[in-house]
Amino acid sequence: KNAGGRGYAFFTRALAERDLDERVLALDINRAIAGDEFELALQPLFASAGQRIVAAEALLRWRNLRTRRDIPPSEFIPVAERRGLIARIDMWVIARVGEILTRWTGADLAVPRVMVNTSPITIDSRDYLDGIDRLLARYPVLRNRLVIEITEGVAVRDPQRLRAIFAELRAREIGTAIDDFGVGQTSVALLRDLPIDFIRIDRSFVDGIDRDPQTLAIIRTVIRLGGELGVQVVAKGVETPAQLEALARSGCALVQGFLLARPETVETFAARLKASAAEASAI
Ligand code: C2E
Ligand code: MG
Ligand code: MG
Repeated sequence: KNAGGRGYAFFTRALAERDLDERVLALDINRAIAGDEFELALQPLFASAGQRIVAAEALLRWRNLRTRRDIPPSEFIPVAERRGLIARIDMWVIARVGEILTRWTGADLAVPRVMVNTSPITIDSRDYLDGIDRLLARYPVLRNRLVIEITEGVAVRDPQRLRAIFAELRAREIGTAIDDFGVGQTSVALLRDLPIDFIRIDRSFVDGIDRDPQTLAIIRTVIRLGGELGVQVVAKGVETPAQLEALARSGCALVQGFLLARPETVETFAARLKASAAEASAI
């Protein structure tokens, strides 16, 4: 105001620049989808007893070929959501998982379940289930293996529709998971209203489990709740042995985190699967 309106001009210029940056990034994303610039990292999920690999989470990785820079999902997913590109990305991920699992089946590997992150915008799109059906026809191995994760916070926009879609996924033998459980406002209502196979407890809870009795009590309650409802509970973001121990003592069946394994290349994950199969047959 004191600057006689110049502050406003400044503000709009900053906004315009951000908009331009975002449009450039959206063009890059478009090219990346068309040109196979994306890749998947797989992070193992382990049974907390025995360290057996039970599943993997697929996480997008992108090296922008124009800038030669690795761009984390936290930077490009929101842009893809705003620019109408996210559904194509999320479906690309499922197709890629289908390809990988088909290859592993051919190589006689015990194929684990794979969880993919899906934006609520993707799930809301009209042809979502048609897209899923096309992918199931092309990669039958996805049945009983694919798990769709959505984050809790956004899950509540249209509960009726979400419930219908989750039921349709279940009917196709596709698993469902609520990610970042505990952070949103509606956790328990979601469990009541939606057909859910997995709860993924947010890292912020796991973080305090070995120090804070309140947090431990909450996690124990969620684990018991999962048990009563027949929902599998996964603890995310396990970084220390003390956290792992507290989770195992609390009866948490599935764990995931840097302590156990980081997101890794598809090849590294496949080698891990081979090694654990060899170990199992040696017993
Ligand atoms: P998320 O689904 O909550 O994924 C977990 C994130 O935490 C991943 O980051 C993973 O690398 C990281 N992480 C795993 N274990 C640990 C740990 O022990 N400690 C810490 N500090 N972090 C850990 P990433 O790969 O950067 O993904 C970030 C987010 O981007 C994901 O959060 C997910 O919401 C989104 N995302 C990733 N891939 C996709 C995708 O294909 N589609 C959509 N729509 N979103 C995706
Ligand atoms: Mg996730
Ligand atoms: Mg998340």
